[in-house]
Amino acid sequence: MAAKIIDGKGLAARLRGAMAEEARLLTARGVRPGLAVVLVGDDPASQIYVRNKTKALAEAGFACFDHHLGGDVAEAKLLELVKALNLDPAVDGILVQLPLPKHIDSKRVLLAIDPAKDVDGFHPENLGRLLIGEPRFIACTPYGIMKLIEQGGADVRGANAVVVGRSNIVGKPVAVLLTNADATVTLCHSKTRDLPAVIAGADILVAAIGRAEMIRGAWIKPGATVIDVGTNRLPTGKLVGDVEFATAVERAGAITPVPGGVGPMTIAMLLANTLEAARRRAAR
Ligand code: NDP
Repeated sequence: MAAKIIDGKGLAARLRGAMAEEARLLTARGVRPGLAVVLVGDDPASQIYVRNKTKALAEAGFACFDHHLGGDVAEAKLLELVKALNLDPAVDGILVQLPLPKHIDSKRVLLAIDPAKDVDGFHPENLGRLLIGEPRFIACTPYGIMKLIEQGGADVRGANAVVVGRSNIVGKPVAVLLTNADATVTLCHSKTRDLPAVIAGADILVAAIGRAEMIRGAWIKPGATVIDVGTNRLPTGKLVGDVEFATAVERAGAITPVPGGVGPMTIAMLLANTLEAARRRAAR
C-alpha cells in the first residue's frame, strides 16, 4: 500500500495562518513580532531564500528589518550591525543568511548574535541548551522535522530512529530532539558501515545527506516514517530528495515529498521562533 504523504506545504500554511492571528493580537498590545534579516553580497540562492523568508514574514504581519550589505563589507562593520540589532527593542530575532563571503569569519558573526535573539538556533549556547533538554530556540529545520514526524502519526517514544547526516544545523540537532522525545537513535554519516542494514531497522528515518536519491526504497522498513531533508537539483533541473521516492512511497507508512515537505516547514519554524521571542518580550 502506498504511504501517507506528509504534506509539509499544507501544514506550514496552517501554522503560518495561526501565527498571523497571534501576531495580530500581540501587535494590538504594542508588541509586533519583528525579525532582522541580514544578507551580505548577492549569492543568487541566498537572495531567493531571503526573499521567501521576507514574503512569509510580511504575510504573517511580522515586521521585517532588511539589511542588505555589499559583498565587500568589512567584518567589523557587520559585527557593528549585529550589535546594534542586539540592542534594538523592536527586533525580536536576528537572522544572518549563510554562507557569508570568505573574508568574513561566520563563527565570529554567529557568536555575536544575542542568544536570546538567535531565532535560527545556531548559537552554541542554544545548541547546548538543546543538548541538556532545556531548549530556548530549536534550529528551524530540525524543529520542522519533528513537527512533520508528529504529523505523520509516528509513535516516537521507544521507536528506533535513524538519522543519516551529522551536520550541526540538521543531523545532530535532530538526533538530540529524537533522543529527548524518547526514541532510540542511531546517527549515521559517511563512515557508517553497511548503511542499508542500519536503515532496515528504522521505524523513523531522517535523511539529511545532500545526495540525490541515495537511499533506496528497498532499504526502508515497511511502514516506516520517512523524512527527506535533502534538496538536490538533477541536471534536468528537477528537484529530488535523498530518498528514492518512487520506490520508498510503496514501502513506507508515511513520507515527506521533495519539494513540499521539509522546505516549507523550515520557514514556518523561523516564524514560530520569532513569535516565541516576541511573546517573551510581551511578558517582560
Ligand atoms: P552537510 O553537507 O553539512 O552534511 C551532510 C552529511 O551527510 C554529513 O554528515 C556526511 O557525513 C553525510 N554523508 C555524506 N555522504 C554520505 C554517505 N554516502 N552515507 C552516509 N552519510 C553521508 O549537509 P546539511 O546537513 O547542511 O544538508 C543536508 C541536505 O539537506 C542537503 O541536501 C541540504 O540542501 C538539505 N537541507 C535542506 C533544508 C530545507 O529546509 N529543506 C535545510 C538544510 C539542509 P560526514 O559527516 O561523514 O561527512
